[in-house]
Parts: sequence; structure tokens; C-alpha cells
Amino acid sequence: MEQRPLLSVVVPFYNEEGNVAPLFERLESILVSLPGAPSYEIVAVNDGSTDATLERLHDQVRSRKGIVAVNLSRNFGHQLAATAGIDTAAGDAVILMDGDLQDPPDLIDAFVARWRDGYDVVYAVRRSRKGESLFKVLTARFFYRLVRRMTKVDIPVDTGDFRLMSRRVVEALQRSPERHRFLRGMVSWVGFRQVGVPYDRDERHSGVTKYPFAKMVRFAIDGITSFSDAPLRLASYLGFCSSAVAFVYALIVIVSKLFNLNPPAYTPGWASTIVAVIFLGGIQLIGIGILGEYLGRIYEEVKGRPIYLISDVERS
Ligand code: UDP
Ligand code: MG
Repeated sequence: MEQRPLLSVVVPFYNEEGNVAPLFERLESILVSLPGAPSYEIVAVNDGSTDATLERLHDQVRSRKGIVAVNLSRNFGHQLAATAGIDTAAGDAVILMDGDLQDPPDLIDAFVARWRDGYDVVYAVRRSRKGESLFKVLTARFFYRLVRRMTKVDIPVDTGDFRLMSRRVVEALQRSPERHRFLRGMVSWVGFRQVGVPYDRDERHSGVTKYPFAKMVRFAIDGITSFSDAPLRLASYLGFCSSAVAFVYALIVIVSKLFNLNPPAYTPGWASTIVAVIFLGGIQLIGIGILGEYLGRIYEEVKGRPIYLISDVERS
């Protein structure tokens, strides 16, 4: 008998009680109709929800086959919840998607087809985004392009975490123990054969975004600092530039003093002093802030705490 590949679909949930049932419904109907009827499991991770998400997941465990409900000990954040799900998944191919139906399950068919063509990573590229504020769309566009410019890793633009990964890619991720995880970057970093599939991102089925502005900024900083040391270099460049300016200014001051070039009425003003102090102070603070970002991350890594904790797992 031919051995069937096992697909794992990993979905993190944080306060998504209204989305659990509709997502499982659509997922199951897609998964059973895949060509060759591969065996599958759905690994749902409850990321410390404060609503009835966990109860809704347990309903699914009771009423369907092949469901794994992983309950984390508290809210660890999207990327770590996804990591917990990926670590639990047993499939030859692991598909990661959001739990709010913004990532259409229908794309799984195309993912699996490309995987069977021999690709290790099949990622979904957002052609359009429905139901999201202009602000989110524009900041996201800017962010993906900024990350692309700043890093040496070839991270595709307009690509979220909705993707399929082969077993060897999953194993590579598991060997990367970092806790500030920017999964879409890490998967690109792994390499192998990767291909994009365009799609239109749907509206959230119900509930509100779990990425308010402050979290978006933190996620962006995680993405940049995990894959680039360009900000550190920026601090050095700023230092060099301001030193060069200061050096030229010092020359002007000395020369005008020596040759008494100042008109007699000229009194050395506080304006230039204040400008220089504020300017240099600002540059120093930026430099220290950038150092601090990296230092804080080194501190977190060095502590070596587990990156997530599982409270319990239920399977059907
Ligand atoms: N999520 C999570 N933990 C969090 C925040 C979000 O597991 O701390 C999940 C959330 O339930 C959803 C996915 O991550 O399934 C993406 O979040 P969201 O849809 O809010 O992000 P957006 O699509 O607005 O960028
Ligand atoms: Mg969403």
C-alpha cells in the first residue's frame, strides 16, 4: 500500500470564539476533498484566550476526527503560539494559517499541489487585502519593503505566515531556539526550494484584530532586529557624520579665533551651542536606544527560559 503523506494544519487562536466552528467547517471540507485524500490533522493552539475559545476547540475535538487542541499556559503571542503548534504537528507537511478566516482554506489545494511538485515551502502572497484599514495596508506595505531592504535574507514582500512547510523545514525551525521569533523570516532563511502563490486576503470572519498598533510596532522591530544589524550600523554612521560636522565646525571656530575673523560686534551666541548640544544629545540617545534593543534581546536569549509552556493537549 502506498504510504500517504500526512498533512498538519496549525492554527493559533487568541479570543476567536466566533471563528472556531466556521473555520473547522471549511477546513474539513477542503481537506477531505484534496486529491489522493491524504490523511490530516488539525492542530489548534489556544493562546491563553480569555473568552470561550478553548471550550469551542474542545467541542471540535469531540465532534470531529483528527483534531489536536493544544492549550498554552497563558498568552504567549501569535508567533510563539504558532511555534507550539508547529512543534506538536506530526505531518510530512505542515500548513500554518490564522484562525480568523483571513487566510482562505481553499488555498491549501494549491499549496499541496506545489509541495508535490517538490517545493519545500509554499507561501501565500497577498494580492489584495479586504476589510483592513488603509493605515494597516500602507504600514504593512512599507514594513515588508523596509525589511527586504535591510536584511540579507530574501524575505518575500506582502507575505504573512500563511504557508506550507515540508518536514525538513519544520525540523530546521525546531533547531532555531530563538524566542523573538519572526517566523516568516526564519522560514526564508532556511532556504531549500520556495515558491509563492498569490491570493486575495479575506476579511476577518468575526472579532477584532489582535495586532493593535503597539503590537505591530513591536513585531516590526522583532522582524528587523532578528534579521539585520543595519540599525547598529546606522548608529555608527550617525556618530561618524555628527563627528565630521563637529570637526568642520571646530576648524571654523579655531581659524576665526586665530585670525580674529569675527566682526567686533559678534558675540559668541548660545544658539550654536544649544543646537550642537541638542543635536549630539539626540544622536547619542538614538544610538543608546538601538544598542538597548539588541542588548535586551541578548538578555532574553541568555536567560534560556522555555519559549512557551503547554498546559494540556486534547486529541480526537
Ligand atoms: N493570535 C494569537 N496570539 C496573540 C495574537 C494573535 O494566537 O497574542 C492569533 C489570532 O487569534 C489569529 C492570528 O494570530 O489567529 C493573527 O492575528 P490577527 O488576525 O489578530 O492579526 P491580523 O490579521 O489583524 O494581522
Ligand atoms: Mg487576522
